[in-house]
Amino acid sequence: MRGGPLIAIDGPAGAGKSTVSRAVAERLGLERLDTGAMYRSVAWQALQDGVDPADGEAVAKIAAGALLEVGTRVVMNGHDVTSAIRTPEVSRAVSVVAANPAVRRELVKRQRAWAAARRGGVVEGRDIGSVVFPDATVKVFLTAAPEERARRRGHDESADGVARRDRLDSTRPVSPLISAPDAHILDTTGRSVEDVVEEVLSWL
Ligand code: C5P
Repeated sequence: MRGGPLIAIDGPAGAGKSTVSRAVAERLGLERLDTGAMYRSVAWQALQDGVDPADGEAVAKIAAGALLEVGTRVVMNGHDVTSAIRTPEVSRAVSVVAANPAVRRELVKRQRAWAAARRGGVVEGRDIGSVVFPDATVKVFLTAAPEERARRRGHDESADGVARRDRLDSTRPVSPLISAPDAHILDTTGRSVEDVVEEVLSWL
């Protein structure tokens, strides 16, 4: 179905996924999908509706019925939530929402449909190389030293918040954050974006 390359970029918060995936997509003339924004949008809607993020059934309903567009702007059920999904409240709620198997099933289905409708693309998240696109052209797993990750996230999330989210994401039973066996592991600590992008492109 897919005509072009599919590049999967996974890793914990602050490893550089957004910056690197944006730059790689631009260099290759491909579109980019931020799957974290999808989980964040569902969490935002739950908070907005006064639904407990841990209420699996209610949150699954929100995901199934979501009118969601993730591009340069993120639009959830008619609301531009581009900034709203980056608030500390949403960051605190999102890992519980993302551990919900029904939410994951729904969003993974949409992520596959997104890629099928394009000439491939650059997709960033936590389970892209391991679960969503096990046949991706290139799988990249970004890491960085904890201090550097906390510093990068520092403007919108505390170091404790980032550590808690990583712990929840890595230990959940469904699709935990793990590197696929065939992923290229790339430590971005102290490296320039250009340098990291060149290395990713060299694997194509
Ligand atoms: O990428 P970002 O940090 O915005 O992702 C927010 C949260 O969404 C993550 O902490 C994780 O709980 C969830 N997520 C996920 N699977 C993905 C992308 C994000 O579980 N593919």
